[in-house]
Formats: sequence, C-alpha cells, structure tokens
Amino acid sequence: MIEVNELTKRYGGTTAVNDLSFTVRPGHVTGFLGPNGAGKSTTLRMVLGLNDPTGGTVTIDGHRFRDRPRGLRHVGALLDAHDVHGGRSAAAHLSVLARSNRIPRRRVDEVLEEVGLAAARRRRISGFSLGMKQRLGIAAALLGDPPVLVFDEPLNGLDPEGVKWVRGLFRRLAAEGRTVFVSSHLMSEMENTADQLVVIGRGRLIAAESLTEFAARGTRLSVSVRTPDAATLASLLTEEGAAVGQDADVLTVTGLSAARIGELAFHHRVPLHELTTSAASLEEAFMELTADSVEYLAGEPR
Ligand code: ADP
Repeated sequence: MIEVNELTKRYGGTTAVNDLSFTVRPGHVTGFLGPNGAGKSTTLRMVLGLNDPTGGTVTIDGHRFRDRPRGLRHVGALLDAHDVHGGRSAAAHLSVLARSNRIPRRRVDEVLEEVGLAAARRRRISGFSLGMKQRLGIAAALLGDPPVLVFDEPLNGLDPEGVKWVRGLFRRLAAEGRTVFVSSHLMSEMENTADQLVVIGRGRLIAAESLTEFAARGTRLSVSVRTPDAATLASLLTEEGAAVGQDADVLTVTGLSAARIGELAFHHRVPLHELTTSAASLEEAFMELTADSVEYLAGEPR
C-alpha cells in the first residue's frame, strides 16, 4: 500500500505537486494519469525517496522508502528506462543490483526469462532498443520479488506485442496481491491496463476512484450518424438545437437522442447507414476533467 498525504513539492516558483493525498491499494493495477507536466514523475520520485517533499509525507506499507535497507525487496521501480550503464550487459546490470540488495543470483536469470530478454542477456545495453530497455527496467523492478511496484510510463517504446505482454504482467502481479502503480499521460494506455485510477492535473488531485466510476463522469452522450447526405442531415439537426460535428459522411451529434435523429432522418427521407449512441467514454471524461490543467495545448505557440 502506498499512502500519499498532503504532499507538496515546489521548485522555485513552480509548484509541481500541490497538497496531494491518495492511497494505492494492493491487489489492483492503479493508473496514475495526468497530462504532461502534471507532476506524476515528481510524485513518483518522492514515493521512492529520490526527492524530498516541500511538505507532506509518503509511506510504503507504513515506512518511508529510505528507511528500508535492501529496498528492492520492498519496492520495485522503473522510472527512466535510459537510466542504465550502457557498457554493461543486461545480466551484468541485474547482477550488480542483485548483489547490492542481497538478492539471490538465480533471480537474474528468472527475471530475464520473465521479460523475454533471456536470449539477449549477454548483449550490451547500449545496443538495446527503447522497448528492450523498458523490459530490462521491468526486470530490475521484479528482481527483489517486491510486494509494491512502481512504473513511470512503462508502455513508452513498446511494440503492440510488448504492450499486450506488459498489461498481462501487471494484471498478474496485482492478482498475486501486490500493489501495482503505473503512470501514463494517455488515457488510452490505461483503459485496458488499470482498474483503479489516480488522476492529477497541475499537481492537484482530480480523481481517485475505479475506472468505471471515472468513466461515468463523462457527462455528454454523443450519437454517431453515418449518412451519404451528411450536409442535409447536419442542417436539420442544427435547426433542432443539436451540436453537430462532421467528418466526411459521419456526424457526431450531441443534444439529441438517437431515436429523435432517426425520426428526423426518416421524415426528411435522408438515408442512414449507421446510428450509434456512444456511452460516456473514459477518454472524454479525462479530456473534460483535465482540460484546465493541460500545460501546452496543441497548436498553441510556446
Ligand atoms: P509529469 O511527470 O506529470 O509529466 P513532472 O513531475 O515531470 O510532470 O513535472 C511537473 C512540473 O514540475 C512541471 O511543470 C515541470 O516543469 C516541473 N519540474 C519537474 N522537475 C523539476 C526540476 N527538477 N526543477 C524545476 N522544475 C521541475
């Protein structure tokens, strides 16, 4: 269990983390979500005792991480996949970690096997792709067989097969009763990975709840309509008071039910090829709730 209590971190005039409190429980994969610059990495660094908070506390299973000798047996972490000695082989890198944490040597081979790097164990890390480095970082996190695991953007650089593997691994680790805390700036990455969410924006807590509860916050239901006569239908729907977006022959309509749209189309002899109501999506809820806290909007001059 990770307990974050009124945590604050200031860098000069920048408040990276602002009075943040949440709990990450064992037995779940908890996604740590927020736009770039929201304060995720800063929070994770404080969880792992790499940065000192300006205020507040973080404990892991009741202890501060720094107070634990042989830390890798208590908490495994992947913060930055590039943060490795490139001149070493994968096996040598893990062996150094194992020795300094008094972890049996056999764990090195076990975790290399587990992450799919057994065949590359003797290769220098400098020749590894980002995806391979992510796998190596995950191997290092697993080395001490810890009850708590923390990963900062672990899906970056993984190919689709790698993403599928990592999701399965996280779910298995959680099912074994471990605490699994995974950050991402993309809702789409968390949708099939996490079952609990901690969402932050500009260093502040936005939500800490299940994925299902979070999705229910997306308030606007929209209806997708495909028709060869999109222009006619769009103006009919607008006259009825709907908000209509158009992308080629597909209209995205809010403010009118699918039934009403179907009736209007029928009445005006507009053929419909598709009519679908989309439930409030996670992505939509995420966009709505974090809109105010996005540091740089796409297209905005920097
Ligand atoms: P995220 O991981 O969510 O992208 P970060 O924790 O990296 O966010 O950054 C949060 C904020 O803190 C950003 O505005 C960032 O510029 C600032 N920040 C992070 N680290 C430092 C630092 N060492 N010195 C000054 N500002 C920092």
